[in-house]
Amino acid sequence: MTDLTTWLLSQIDADEAVAVEGVETLGDWAEDSADLDAGALLWQAKRTLAQCAAHRRIVELHSPEVDACPPMDTSDDAAFYDSWCPTLRAIAGIYADRPGFREEWALSGDTERAGGAG
Ligand SMILES: [Zn+2]
Repeated sequence: MTDLTTWLLSQIDADEAVAVEGVETLGDWAEDSADLDAGALLWQAKRTLAQCAAHRRIVELHSPEVDACPPMDTSDDAAFYDSWCPTLRAIAGIYADRPGFREEWALSGDTERAGGAG
């Protein structure tokens, strides 16, 4: 794994840990409760788990071992694109407000949208 994929997997792991804790904490109580807030929180935690699994799979598809989506050939402007697939860079943009995010990974507009989500 490389810098971006390693960093992305650690961000996904962190989100997943919070979501697992949410499901475990809310679990049966929220499903049996008429409290709409509890139900919404449980739904969000379960949705986050599904998104983490999907994002992890996308990152894995970009590993050298799988090579399903090789890095772009950006020989004309390698410094700008950093040779990373825009799909990975779009996922990285979710975490643009977290430590370790590199500006060269950003797609246009990432830093403006990433506020307070992390
Ligand atoms: Zn790709």
